[in-house]
Amino acid sequence: MPEKKESKKTSDLKKKLVMDKPRVWDSLSAKDKKDVSNYSVDYMDFLNKGRTERRAINRLMEMASEAGFIEISQADGKTDRVYKVSRGKLLVLAVLGQEPMIEGIRLVTSHVDSPRLDIKPNPLYEETGLALLKTHYYGGVKKYHWVARSLAMIGTMFTRQGKTVEVEIGLKPDDPVLTIPDLLPHLSRKQMEQKAGEFIPAENLNVIIGSLPYEDQEASDRVKLAILDLLFTKYGITEEDFIGAEIEMIPAEPAREAGLDRSLVAAYGQDDRVCAFTSATAIMGLAKPAHTNVAIFYDKEEIGSEGNTSAKSAALDLFLMELMEKSGLEPSAMNLRKVFLNGKGLSGDVTAAIDPTYGDAYEKRNNSKIGHGIGITKYTGAGGKYMGSDANAEYASWVRRLFNENNIMWQPAGLGKVDEGGGGTVAKYVANAGMDIIDCGPPILGMHSPLELCAKDDIWMTHRAFKVFLES
Ligand code: MN
Ligand code: MN
Repeated sequence: MPEKKESKKTSDLKKKLVMDKPRVWDSLSAKDKKDVSNYSVDYMDFLNKGRTERRAINRLMEMASEAGFIEISQADGKTDRVYKVSRGKLLVLAVLGQEPMIEGIRLVTSHVDSPRLDIKPNPLYEETGLALLKTHYYGGVKKYHWVARSLAMIGTMFTRQGKTVEVEIGLKPDDPVLTIPDLLPHLSRKQMEQKAGEFIPAENLNVIIGSLPYEDQEASDRVKLAILDLLFTKYGITEEDFIGAEIEMIPAEPAREAGLDRSLVAAYGQDDRVCAFTSATAIMGLAKPAHTNVAIFYDKEEIGSEGNTSAKSAALDLFLMELMEKSGLEPSAMNLRKVFLNGKGLSGDVTAAIDPTYGDAYEKRNNSKIGHGIGITKYTGAGGKYMGSDANAEYASWVRRLFNENNIMWQPAGLGKVDEGGGGTVAKYVANAGMDIIDCGPPILGMHSPLELCAKDDIWMTHRAFKVFLES
């Protein structure tokens, strides 16, 4: 039987009227494909160096310094590339543009914190010959993801005398790792009957840190004492120093390529360090843009953007006012409002890629697909768009035209079926300040799991999208 073939008239009409969102890969030249591959190498290096929010900010600051950015209070009149860091966990970069700031800045936001297990303030104890650490999970985790895997312990502590101590165990190939064993299947009858959200209770997320006793056989809690002795020898810290410390348990393995075709990056923390890296490299690569460029890297997004390193803090306001002063604009409250009102923003954050195995959770016409470019999410939220951010149609249209005119491959995105769940980003806090802002970012599989998957071509396209936006 001959194949059915549309008439030319039909195919022309389809071309004109029907939306077509092809694969990024099909649109790439041989040189582009090489760029995609090279960019992913740098990206994985960034992920490996920036495994916690503090480390990501440190790495971004190193990159910024190499790219000629100067701390804003140190910058003289001639410098137009400046940065400001807040408490080691929030960073803002800016490049002053040719136009006055009040005419409209370009802002890209992202966040550098990721879901994980934090060590409790008084974590160390001994039971049945083992020394363990109590943890408290941070952000939206599935608790069962964190058992039976290699964990690294990274963080910042202070001694009784106030000296900073950087702790790192488990990242180097010959380091020991830490782990939370799971209950053996043989004895799991009761556990297996429980719901997935309950079968690993939060108080069971106890990390094994050692098993050898201290030499004095008459002493009590000898294993705990031996661990404290090791920690004191290595870091000069005592048990009380854990109180107030910021120690995180994160997956120990580095970022890897995934797939036989090496098309994906498999790594912890890509939500949202992928947008941190793609926006940072975009702003760092620009010389003298038309509009003032600002990229901000927030902390605490995963727990609702609370606190003085979060998107709800005054950090961006203060930085913009310092920048206004530097650019010759009076840093008044009224002018700050106008800078927000006239500015344009992209809220860079990952979006849920359709996972074919769990197709039921998604709405395939409105959710994003791996390898189809940066996702544009007009609105976020849960249920009836509650707690979300909804971009104005005028602004969504402006972004769409910008991307289309610059060959940015983009696709519609959203977080699953209505009433299946939901979530938000930092966009609403910037929108509340008066700016037009829309969510966009690469699709990701396994979001918030210890091993997230993101396609190399989507990552590269996200970088290009941020660059085109900042140049606009
Ligand atoms: Mn995120
Ligand atoms: Mn997240």
